[in-house]
Amino acid sequence: MPVNASGARILVVEDEPVINQAVTDRLRGSGYDVVQAWDGPGAVTQYESTAPDLVVLDVMLPGFDGHEVCRRIQAARPVPVLMLTARDDEADILVGLGVGADDYLTKPFRMRELVARVGALLRRVERAAELANRSDTDLGDLRVDAAARRVWADGNEVHLTPTEFDLLVCLAGSPGAVLTRENLYAEVWGWPGASGTRTVDSHVKALRAKIGADRIRTVHGIGYALEPGGTA
Ligand code: CA
Repeated sequence: MPVNASGARILVVEDEPVINQAVTDRLRGSGYDVVQAWDGPGAVTQYESTAPDLVVLDVMLPGFDGHEVCRRIQAARPVPVLMLTARDDEADILVGLGVGADDYLTKPFRMRELVARVGALLRRVERAAELANRSDTDLGDLRVDAAARRVWADGNEVHLTPTEFDLLVCLAGSPGAVLTRENLYAEVWGWPGASGTRTVDSHVKALRAKIGADRIRTVHGIGYALEPGGTA
């Protein structure tokens, strides 16, 4: 999978023609090969026929919405997804993350920020390979096999999205230590943006729901720590 701007293919899904074209033009100007779709069914068809490396996906779409598009394309093969949401609504964002979105931008957004997030998500594919080289982590009732990208909590396998997995590996790299939200965003998403802290919060929330809420400690105003050998 190409991860450099040159050669990486991006699918832009947005039903508002002016926004779709503006995003497309900007990404093409940044060196990406861009294909477009304007509704839910069209997005899935375009995804299947063009096999993009990343998808920029609006939530509100005709046919079926971006969440359903995300669910369908992620079932085919994992792909980085940047979701575009109309509201800075945590429930909406959590639904998006639950179906496999990796990051989100709230409208209206700056084109420069969109290009930065896209670049960071593509670089994250490389970073995920680096993280996989870390050795297995065994924290009592939580076991992380970084190479196989598998996780067990209390002996039961837990299915995480690629982003949730990378976040857990990052936290597990230094059990008990507090990692700031900014550091986590830079480490996992590969781009040091303060605007990504809510993305971190949302993913931590989703991760807690899967591995047990008490395994990740919140340090208010600072960040998060994985409890070493926590017993749920
Ligand atoms: Ca829309």
